[in-house]
Amino acid sequence: MTNISEPAWFPLALRLDDVRVLVVGGGMIAANKVRLLLAHRARVQVIAARLDDEMREWEKTGAITHIATSADARTLRAAMPGCRLVYAATDDREINRAAAAIAREMNIPVCAVDDPAPSSFITPAQTHRGLVRIAISTGGAAPVLARRLREQVESVIPEGTGELALFMQEQREHVGRACPDIMRRRRVWETFLDGAGAQAARQGESARARAILDDIIAGTTTRGEVWLVGAGPGDPDLLTLRALHMMQNADSVLYDQLLSPALLDRVRRDAELVFVGKRRNRHTMPQEEINAELVRRAQAGQRVLRLKGGDPFVFGRGGEEIEALMDSAIPFQVVPGITAANGCAAYAGIPLTHRDCAQACMFVTGHARADGTLHLPWDSMARPGQTVVIYMGVSALPALCARLMDHGLPADWPAAIVERGTRADQRVLTGTLGTLARLAAEADIGSPALIIVGEVVRHRVISPT
Ligand code: SAH
Repeated sequence: MTNISEPAWFPLALRLDDVRVLVVGGGMIAANKVRLLLAHRARVQVIAARLDDEMREWEKTGAITHIATSADARTLRAAMPGCRLVYAATDDREINRAAAAIAREMNIPVCAVDDPAPSSFITPAQTHRGLVRIAISTGGAAPVLARRLREQVESVIPEGTGELALFMQEQREHVGRACPDIMRRRRVWETFLDGAGAQAARQGESARARAILDDIIAGTTTRGEVWLVGAGPGDPDLLTLRALHMMQNADSVLYDQLLSPALLDRVRRDAELVFVGKRRNRHTMPQEEINAELVRRAQAGQRVLRLKGGDPFVFGRGGEEIEALMDSAIPFQVVPGITAANGCAAYAGIPLTHRDCAQACMFVTGHARADGTLHLPWDSMARPGQTVVIYMGVSALPALCARLMDHGLPADWPAAIVERGTRADQRVLTGTLGTLARLAAEADIGSPALIIVGEVVRHRVISPT
């Protein structure tokens, strides 16, 4: 048994078209309610001695009816019969309470704005995407909290949810006829919602969505697919909403060492987590094996999430994985992520371009070849007026700095290194081409770390704490 000392509010959704509603008050508070009521096609009567501008406009266009008198016991008693709801929405709590008392006496549901005690109903904070409407209420206890929660909810509802609901409404009869059994029908819809069909419906591609739905009904779909998703540089707050959505829907997740544990925490609990990074013998699973694993799982009908640090198409071999999928005709989706350059630059306070000193920005890999040599376009890297961001460059840092100086950059050219950027234990070192390698060695900087070379390092910004 729950023990609720306050009376609890029972949520209801009312249909208001053509319903007569009395609004007590002609000011801003009343106008806010009237706007909502008109959007739901209620027939609104407003009782107030005077109307504010917006209300007057509504009256002029015939959207509302005005009972031009101050609200007292007599006028309210005369106005209420025939009304199905009352909003007491003046800025005077006593008047609102008096109006509420009369409405309750007449058995008409009433809401005294911002005053739950005399109210018999309240209006929750709400948001909608087409047919989908989400209402949040704190029982009148904390309207600002309700609004804040509404904003948070709004931000996680995928784009196109309204279109999806409409599509499902249009297909209800069809699915009902094809699957009379309610349990089976529910499974069909769940499968549909998890896969590419729902995505197609969200994007308004009804024909494709319908084809996928029919495949599911016919049982001919394997619904296996691969999602190649960028998870950003480490801070889970830098995940995209789409990445988060996919992390919560995948059957299995293939990840490597670049992925921070904080990110993996966001994956659906019953998804299978498969580590494909460096194994105990310190060898990385060969790319071909990863490709084959993706194909095998998708062919078995899984929704496979290939979660990559940063962006999958920036030094992520995402292209190669996609080619393998295409060769095996596996459907896929690619979701971008915040690449290390963006994440580290922002969290270290170093702009990547600057109107005074960097009109271009170049991303290069500092990963040495098997024979230990670095083959990089040194001449185009060692130029003023640009920023050079070097990925995978920690072990070659001394060589990188030396070669840039050999190719003409001065020893006092600014350079920085960001270790574990955007994560809780991020470290940033700034120096010059002449000093950075030594500083990094002294501080024992390890992987992952990103090197930023250029005058932008001098424009580093740090927020006062
Ligand atoms: N696809 C990734 C890059 C993969 S290459 C992306 O878009 O970010 C791996 C290199 O990225 C690392 O060696 C390091 O240079 C860089 N990197 C990735 N995450 C990083 C982080 N959190 N901090 C610093 N460097 C990072």
